[in-house]
Amino acid sequence: MNARQPGNVVILGTGATGYTAAKVLRAEGFTGDITLIGNERGATYRRPAVSKELLLGTKSIDQVVLGPEIDDVLVRAGVTATAITDSAVQLDDGDSVPFDTLLLATGSRARQLDLPGSGHAFTLRSATDVAPLHADILRTGSLLVIGGGLIGCEAAAAARALGAEVTVVEAASAPLNRIAPQSVSRMYRELHADNGIEIHTDVAVTEIEKQTDGTLRATARDGRAWCAGTVLVSAGSVPNTELAADLGLDTRSGILVDASMQTSAAGIYAAGDVAEVPNTVLGGTYRSEHWNGAIDQATRAARSILGLDVGPLDVPWGWSTQHGINLQFAGWTSASDEFVVVRGSIEERRFTACAVRENTLVGAIGVGYPKDIRQVRSRIANRDHIDRDLLGQDWLDQPHAVVR
Ligand SMILES: Cc1cc2nc3c(=O)[nH]c(=O)nc-3n(C[C@H](O)[C@H](O)[C@H](O)COP(=O)(O)OP(=O)(O)OC[C@H]3O[C@@H](n4cnc5c(N)ncnc54)[C@H](O)[C@@H]3O)c2cc1C
Repeated sequence: MNARQPGNVVILGTGATGYTAAKVLRAEGFTGDITLIGNERGATYRRPAVSKELLLGTKSIDQVVLGPEIDDVLVRAGVTATAITDSAVQLDDGDSVPFDTLLLATGSRARQLDLPGSGHAFTLRSATDVAPLHADILRTGSLLVIGGGLIGCEAAAAARALGAEVTVVEAASAPLNRIAPQSVSRMYRELHADNGIEIHTDVAVTEIEKQTDGTLRATARDGRAWCAGTVLVSAGSVPNTELAADLGLDTRSGILVDASMQTSAAGIYAAGDVAEVPNTVLGGTYRSEHWNGAIDQATRAARSILGLDVGPLDVPWGWSTQHGINLQFAGWTSASDEFVVVRGSIEERRFTACAVRENTLVGAIGVGYPKDIRQVRSRIANRDHIDRDLLGQDWLDQPHAVVR
């Protein structure tokens, strides 16, 4: 390995990014001190399980732990960093932890809605959020989910499987609209309807009120209202950038980094949900907000800290499981509204659809053909020029359909 060895590395955040970076540092032969600091207690777990197996109750936290303890890593769990200077992290227990190199892996938190009565609602981000929500759903037997994105829809499906009556309200005109074209959103609406869940769109909730019978009533700006025993707000996430911004690091939506995860300050890196990385395909920057992005960026950060080659950034991809259907998506599906179905059919809930922009493949979304998504990722990375007439024949024998 390259000879660059900082004396010590402090990693802030014990999620997938922090854990993976510590593991890779040791695997690459780093012999200095590593301190992993985080405000959650217990071992690092697979956060995607929060809105799936953990909420359903089919797995316990011990069954979704990311990996074993890493040799020779000092873990400071259950403490919050309150400030960062250019050489130390201040903790809320009064300690100050000095660093030569710092990796910010502070992730995101659930977005709260600033409206009257929002204190009656749950949010869902961490393992500690799950048990009270699970218990309340079983107690009341009904759930209203405010927010029809991936996590809201997954939580709705889990609550339905628990036997609750479930309704989803979404501010946009379609569920999953950040990643899915209208045709796929429609399919998801039908999938949820088949499972007894209604999704209402264009709903701007303005108030949540507790009724005299203990149920909650959410009222929308246009006067529509829904009642349920339990309300979950699933309105996206907010990256934890405050400490970085206070330190003077460049931030935008996340902490700005280059392709080697280096922030605007020497010796300080950021990775995972909190990092805003260069988009080498479309230009600009983006935050991954998906599991594989966290693992890839953590690996890159650890290797760059050690002066090792990191190669190009992975094309992002993620997945979601709802009612037993596994959706996968890659690239930047929101960068185009032209999708070509290259395999299967959306109506049959088994398909691969590619997002094409100016004859370039920019994203893909699909159910049932994970190999397609892998293949699309390398084509996106290569910035392959797409002859749209060949796209269908290339991957399929049958002619393709252009959908909106
Ligand atoms: C409910 C849910 C379901 C998901 N499902 C999927 C899925 O199906 N597929 C997929 O691809 N992705 C999914 N994701 C996204 C994926 O889990 C995240 O992208 C990934 O976990 C991000 O990891 P991270 O380590 O960067 O951030 P995080 O996991 O957020 O970890 C950051 C850690 O830092 C801690 N921290 C923050 N500030 C401080 C501080 N000041 N002091 C101390 N500690 C601090 C936080 O408490 C947290 O423990 C899901 C996310 C959620 C919330």
